[in-house]
Amino acid sequence: MLNFDHAASTPVHPDVIRTIAEVMEAHSGNPSSIHRGGEAASKLLERSREVCAAALGVKSGEIVFTSGATESNNLAVKGALLGRTDGKVHIVTTQIEHSSVSESCRQLEAFGIETTYVPPEADGTVSPDKVLAAVREDTALVSVMHVNNETGAVQPAAEIARRVKERSSRILTHVDGVQGFGRLALDLNAAGIDLYSVSAHKIGGPRGVGLLFVREGAKLFPLLSGGGQEGGLRAGTENVASIVGAAKAFRLAAEGQAERFEKMKRLREKLVREVRRHEALTLTEPEHPAPHIVHFTFPGLKSQVILHTLEELGVLVSAQSACSAKTEKPSRVLSAMGRKRDHATSGIRFSLGDEHTEEEIRLLSEALERTVDRLAPIEGRKR
Ligand code: PLP
Repeated sequence: MLNFDHAASTPVHPDVIRTIAEVMEAHSGNPSSIHRGGEAASKLLERSREVCAAALGVKSGEIVFTSGATESNNLAVKGALLGRTDGKVHIVTTQIEHSSVSESCRQLEAFGIETTYVPPEADGTVSPDKVLAAVREDTALVSVMHVNNETGAVQPAAEIARRVKERSSRILTHVDGVQGFGRLALDLNAAGIDLYSVSAHKIGGPRGVGLLFVREGAKLFPLLSGGGQEGGLRAGTENVASIVGAAKAFRLAAEGQAERFEKMKRLREKLVREVRRHEALTLTEPEHPAPHIVHFTFPGLKSQVILHTLEELGVLVSAQSACSAKTEKPSRVLSAMGRKRDHATSGIRFSLGDEHTEEEIRLLSEALERTVDRLAPIEGRKR
């Protein structure tokens, strides 16, 4: 099978698998225990925190380990709003965020918190001016993702954070960095980003581990109460072995970012040329595309039909984001971009990974050609 669904999850890097197995075998201590076994686990945990901090260019005390980016996003959004006593009850976000951000905002609305959802432009990019225009006196948080997981549109997250901070240093800025980290450079300090979510399984780490960068001084209300782990922000015994493995994956992702960007960009351009050859397909063309995502629609057909045809031909891809893949509803992101229903129900995402080669792009292109040949006549289309 050819896996072109790396934005959903990546294979775990062999070094990461080895590391996790070694730590699991050698360390059974709880990092909060004060005996030798606990201390050894605690050292591994703190060393991993340093490694992650270095990968992000921040301080180790600013890293909170979580169960993944869904939790990181929940902690950033809910944690920034709950328990405030300063009357700041407003969030600015966008209509194209991952559901872990948008659903967190929706939940907060039940508690009297207001959210402004800024729409994207037709190419899937959010305008910094529109985000800034939505900021109010009572805004507590601005949350804008770095790379949209469906279309691959790179968002001006750094510019937005910088301008929000210029407007008021008290507003917290959050960036969901899941699809950008390890693929695009982003200087969290220069941009004035306070909160940044990352997930290990999108860059060669294990599923079920993520982190939230919380800038020193940024106050969050913890969502999990208990033993006060993770600086009091995330109670629960840490998954030490997986965190050590995730730290390795974050380090490898950060070190290889520039090279990965160039390689993926080259492969993406080839793939884009292939998609463009087919009249039946409409390429989604963000102003700034991420190097690992190619998105197109096949109007008149359902995403699932296209996806399963590709699967029969040996290629794994996604329709909408992996979490929304099982629904036949029009894509929320494409609808927000103003795409008509026949486009919003027929999106397909190819996403590239580290191991992909030109030969695999050629095989994918062949499978795409056969898919179009097979399906276009169904809708009375000719290439
Ligand atoms: N944010 C974005 C942009 C994503 O693409 C994903 C995963 O698809 C998430 C958040 C959630 O990450 P996790 O699977 O680690 O919960």
